[in-house]
Amino acid sequence: MIIVRTKAELINQISALRKQNKSIGFVPTMGFLHEGHASLLRQAASENDAVVLSIFVNPLQFGPNEDLDRYPRDEERDTALAEENGTGIVFIPSVQEMYPDKPLTSVIVNQVTDRLCGASRPGHFDGVGTVVSKLFHLVTPDRAYFGMKDAQQVAVIQQMVNDLNFSVQIVPCPIVREPDGLALSSRNVYLNAEQREQAVILSQSLQQASVWMNEQDMTAEKLAARVKEEIAKASEAVVDYVELLQFPSLQLPEANVSLTTLNQPLILALAVKFGTTRLIDNRILEAKGANAHVQNDDEIQAAPGNRNGSELELCR
Ligand code: AMP
Repeated sequence: MIIVRTKAELINQISALRKQNKSIGFVPTMGFLHEGHASLLRQAASENDAVVLSIFVNPLQFGPNEDLDRYPRDEERDTALAEENGTGIVFIPSVQEMYPDKPLTSVIVNQVTDRLCGASRPGHFDGVGTVVSKLFHLVTPDRAYFGMKDAQQVAVIQQMVNDLNFSVQIVPCPIVREPDGLALSSRNVYLNAEQREQAVILSQSLQQASVWMNEQDMTAEKLAARVKEEIAKASEAVVDYVELLQFPSLQLPEANVSLTTLNQPLILALAVKFGTTRLIDNRILEAKGANAHVQNDDEIQAAPGNRNGSELELCR
């Protein structure tokens, strides 16, 4: 495995791969890697000749009062985990290397960013779109792997790829969870013991919602309200948002309509703070007439094929 820190070194490595006609799978991250990141690397390794991992805590996607300065870092552990999981090249640029000057250009994706983290973290997805497009230009991946943990990010990146004709297939990957259900996150290390114990309420309430959604006359509004009530039982939890939206458009479903009459993929997404730690989680729910059922995380796979302008699809 090769570690590169400059754009010039990365471009050299990529052109060497291209000369050998090797396909490239790309996994962009902010480091402090865990099993969720490892699962993306393994999937990339199984579908491509070479895997490129980037580790970059991107200042553009953090708001002024967010955790940029204290974001956890451990390069030694990250590179060991990367190597164990099939990575060929790790790109670890400095902020100066990525942004030698303040960028005057940004990639702004509208509409899919109107709600959820797009609403509660203004500018966040402009930072994500900008850095991911810079990385796509450098790495020129055939496929890029993103976790459904950040489902809105998946929708934003797919929209950007469609709109700007990036020649890359976006591969959404299932959420990896702790045995008790908590979604793995680099930010989980901030939780104290009490908060960690209470945080299980997030995945539990999403699970319960998958049952509640089958109740007659259950609407998106009622379901979100019920999940909020459930989360409020955890004394340290402060809800940022709980919303049920269509996926991947991330628009509201028709108001006051029984979920059992809808026939479209939905996402129940939430952001909840425990102390200063903000956690997100979500679950894809498929409302299908009276037979509404939950789509398990491990049923979520990338749509096969089409690298150009492909639609984000959930296969089962
Ligand atoms: P981050 O380093 O948090 O920016 O995440 C880098 C990539 O890993 C993103 O595509 C995330 O969605 C993905 N990821 C983070 N946590 C998980 C998880 N628990 N399961 C699957 N993918 C994840």
